[in-house]
Amino acid sequence: MARIEIKGLTKRYTDGFEALHHTDLSIEQGEFIVIVGPSGCGKSTLLRLIAGLEEPSAGTIAINGRDITHLPPAERGVAMVFQSYALYPHLTVAENIAFPLKVARRPKAEIAERVAKVAASLELEELLDRRPRALSGGQRQRVSIGRAIVRQPDVLLLDEPLSNLDSELRVRMRHEFARLHQQLGRTMVYVTHDQLEAMTLANRIVVMANGRVEQVGAPLDLYAHPASLAVAAAIGSPAMNLIPATIWGTGDDGVMVRLADGSVVTVAAQPGGGHVGEMVTLGVRPEHLLPDPGGAFQGPVELFERLGPLSFAHLGGPGHAQPIVAQLPGDRHVSLGERLRVGVAPGNARLFDATGKAWPM
Ligand code: ATP
Repeated sequence: MARIEIKGLTKRYTDGFEALHHTDLSIEQGEFIVIVGPSGCGKSTLLRLIAGLEEPSAGTIAINGRDITHLPPAERGVAMVFQSYALYPHLTVAENIAFPLKVARRPKAEIAERVAKVAASLELEELLDRRPRALSGGQRQRVSIGRAIVRQPDVLLLDEPLSNLDSELRVRMRHEFARLHQQLGRTMVYVTHDQLEAMTLANRIVVMANGRVEQVGAPLDLYAHPASLAVAAAIGSPAMNLIPATIWGTGDDGVMVRLADGSVVTVAAQPGGGHVGEMVTLGVRPEHLLPDPGGAFQGPVELFERLGPLSFAHLGGPGHAQPIVAQLPGDRHVSLGERLRVGVAPGNARLFDATGKAWPM
């Protein structure tokens, strides 16, 4: 049972920079947790603390109720897969995979058996005698995963394991990770910048910003109900449109906000303590902006991206600090410069207060 319990975890690097502030996080046995967030927000730091590659400044980490905060990496029951693979160039694939078992002085017969098993599950059997330089990027990554799982760790930590691969291979390896997780049933903690990896692999996503956990939840919950602007910006590609607005009043359908160009949008949010004139941010997903002659958003199409089944139109205009991105059906043709008007249903819009916190719905 690999349950990870993190309490008050803090990391101050030697230069005094605090990369992780007093973080609490519970990870269940067998969960696939994906950590996302902007560059420098502390994702790798958190992973390295769990792995034992960094010493925390405060707080504790327990796995299965055992305090591992100050144990050396090899005694934690965790293994880590790195973006750079970190294979030994002079060792064969079989020797690379066997390496952790050799260090642990396991008997030869056991090593041979476990390497064979891992090689079979990762489809590396044909490559066991090769050296890393004679492997493709995807094969190297599979070897580094093999080396990580050969000791049967309770917890597998993965730091952007696919970011060095081309897009086709990334898709294949993404499927591979989903399969591996099902097959091994291990607790996995996975750091990525890739939206598709986060949305498709995670049981729960942890969104981090500025050294803090902003929100933890099932991918679709975070997508539909981001608790803060940081989460809204981190989940979804293209990103949620985040548009400056002010509170205008309350109506039957919710709160009305006014945009810079004077148009008014109704959001199905609770009025709460908001007062007229208060600065807020209106959040709308591109797929929720639908062509509507009475819609609040309009502007010339500055950029039109065709993806096949759907397209994205970027609307410029004096009222928008940034273009507003609307998703259109793939068969809808739009010309550059054409004026498009789109609107959003009250239930599909979100509001964030001046501190970035989501308004209650
Ligand atoms: P990325 O997505 O770019 O990999 P990240 O979210 O993984 O970023 P971390 O690598 O955890 O971020 O770094 C968090 C912060 O801590 C960054 O501002 C980084 O510059 C800083 N940092 C990391 N390692 C050290 C170190 N050894 N000494 C001082 N500061 C560090």
